[in-house]
Amino acid sequence: MDLRNKKVTVVGLGNSGTASALLAEKAGAVVSVTDNNDTEDIRKNLKLLKGKHIAVEIGEHTERALSRTELLVVSPAVEKSSLPVRYAIERNIPIISELELGYLFCKGPIVAVTGTNGKSTVVSLLGKILRQAGIPVNVCGNIGNSLSGEIKNIDETTEIILETSSFQLEWIESFRPKISVILNVTEDHLDRHRNFEDYLAAKKRIFKNQAAGDVIILNYDDKNLRDAVKPEEIASKVLYFSAEKKVEGIYLDKGNIKIFLKNKVKTLFALGDSGLEGGHNIENILASILVAILKRADIISVEKTVKHFKPLPHRFERVREIGGVEFIDDSKATNIDSTYQALKSLDRSVVLIAGGKDKNLSYEKILPAIKTNVKKIVLIGETTRKMRESFKRFVAVEEKNSLEEAVLAAYKSASPGDCVLLSPMCSSFDMFRDYKHRGEVFRKTVEGLKDKNKTIFHRPYKYAGH
Ligand code: ADP
Repeated sequence: MDLRNKKVTVVGLGNSGTASALLAEKAGAVVSVTDNNDTEDIRKNLKLLKGKHIAVEIGEHTERALSRTELLVVSPAVEKSSLPVRYAIERNIPIISELELGYLFCKGPIVAVTGTNGKSTVVSLLGKILRQAGIPVNVCGNIGNSLSGEIKNIDETTEIILETSSFQLEWIESFRPKISVILNVTEDHLDRHRNFEDYLAAKKRIFKNQAAGDVIILNYDDKNLRDAVKPEEIASKVLYFSAEKKVEGIYLDKGNIKIFLKNKVKTLFALGDSGLEGGHNIENILASILVAILKRADIISVEKTVKHFKPLPHRFERVREIGGVEFIDDSKATNIDSTYQALKSLDRSVVLIAGGKDKNLSYEKILPAIKTNVKKIVLIGETTRKMRESFKRFVAVEEKNSLEEAVLAAYKSASPGDCVLLSPMCSSFDMFRDYKHRGEVFRKTVEGLKDKNKTIFHRPYKYAGH
């Protein structure tokens, strides 16, 4: 697309909006930006546009700022109901996401990874494997550094490993990854997508432009996904990963990782122990290895990296053991399945800290896991009432006003051998800047705990008599 002299309006001045504005300006567009928030971060980003011919509106969206717009570029946080999106739809002005804009200028081949959970883990692991194998790689997207911002660091030889969210996929036009991966689909973001079908439809757009010669990798063990995405509707080659069954692609067979491609089975290595715990991470590992093999990474680099890979911060991360109680930070668990997987990975009794900002999810779905090994739930945040009603008949529930208080209450209720797990099932924006902030508050509070078993209690003096 030729952007020269085109009037482009970027909606949102977060990191991806800022990168979009700079990229469009460099491509010769007449750029303006509008953001209805006015925060410290936005003011910081504003400084990055200094010296460029970019008009900026912050604190509100006005129709004036949108007039004569020929192309609207939306950031992932921008809702369909926002004024700029409605304005553009009413006037038939094309709308694209930052992802599509970046794609228009991207010279290297793209591996796009989506799914409800595991995206950041997979793109990070895959990036590390390729780097270890000496393959030039750029890991970007939803993980923090947008594709548009990375364009300057990418050439024809760069393998782009792109974390892709449903919000970014909603507004693509021509985006066509060489390899696309859908890790899993369970309920999430139902505050923004009308229903699960809409959310699923957004995820499926990842392969909408793929053609013969491209590949899509799907999780065979995820029934939702298997039912929703049929090979007949896909133009590209379909491969699977499975921890349970022999499939074309990659699978686990009695602890051995096997590749099944072009009618040949090859054993790679025994999975053994890795820094990533839990069945969900086996799926993440299998998906990452399959892509790495398709990208011609050598097996030694693959095995070495997988065995040494540590969980990313706030993803089922062990913080500390004190008084026989283990504390785990899973602050990034912002939907039900991520918490379900965390509970499934633990074979001990759990005091769960949960709650936050509601995403219109139905918490009853986690009851089977809660009934199995949760002895108490300590609730915080906006969802407290809804969660209490879902859980109180099945498990002890306590309510607290802050995460710090919740940690103390959880520790008090835990016995040696138990685990205190922060795995909120909700986003953090009701009480925190983001999931990282929430995880840091948890960690700091846990690090400040004193061993309750060492507390000296003054026993009442017992008169022995004479
Ligand atoms: P995403 O980028 O998709 O949010 P992350 O890798 O950041 O995924 O992990 C988010 C949360 O989901 C964490 O709580 C993590 O432990 C959990 N998780 C990671 N991989 C999976 C998976 N394959 N299935 C379910 N939960 C997962």
